[in-house]
Amino acid sequence: MEYEEKRKELVNQIKEEGIGKQVLEAMGKVPRHLFVSKDLKNSAYIDSPLPIGNRQTISAPHMVAIMCDVLKIEKGMKILEIGTGSGYNAAVMAEMVGKEGHIYSIERISFLKQFAENNLKSAGYTNVTVIEADGTLGYSPEAPYERMCVTSAAPSIPQPLKEQLSAGGIMVIPVGKYMQNLILVHKLDDGTFSEENLGGVIFVPLIGKYGYRESI
Ligand code: SAM
Repeated sequence: MEYEEKRKELVNQIKEEGIGKQVLEAMGKVPRHLFVSKDLKNSAYIDSPLPIGNRQTISAPHMVAIMCDVLKIEKGMKILEIGTGSGYNAAVMAEMVGKEGHIYSIERISFLKQFAENNLKSAGYTNVTVIEADGTLGYSPEAPYERMCVTSAAPSIPQPLKEQLSAGGIMVIPVGKYMQNLILVHKLDDGTFSEENLGGVIFVPLIGKYGYRESI
């Protein structure tokens, strides 16, 4: 079966989970097979995480869908992603914000930063900037951000990320070591925060100054 057919089937499968139309449309456009290594291209449209090297993974499509859905992403938004990995999640968000919006995505592993940049280029995305750094510090040159998507699990919500989120902004972040929960954070207009627990998830650890230490 051609990739396009497989992608349609995957999107139909994800639709069953009640994911919004904008996310489904974006996922219907992003060629996930361009975000995995050659030997895994045939598995690219299975709803499963896949290895991308350096003990890291491209997240399962349904998890990308859930995170993009709860963020209520709109055209023109500026978004910060922590954990670029393959660049796939960034590409889905790039589709959603359109040419007027921009995604800043931070990856701490040099090889993956390069991998993601190459993948994004071959898929034709020009509204994503990948930065090699410790994402727990955020990225102050472009702050504040209307949305933040953290794709690895933190011990707690990093303070720099809270500070760099716009008033009225939304962040989604997995929190916990062995028992992790996906937390939806709203920054209210008065600068206070509300948090909602969306349930149990499994992510690789967020490693950095406001994350875990390398050895976990
Ligand atoms: N969003 C990715 C995708 O679409 O392929 C999947 C991300 S993977 C589950 C988590 C990524 O977070 C890994 O690539 C890992 O190296 C990265 N990471 C972990 N700690 C980080 C940190 N402090 N700053 C930036 N990236 C980090």
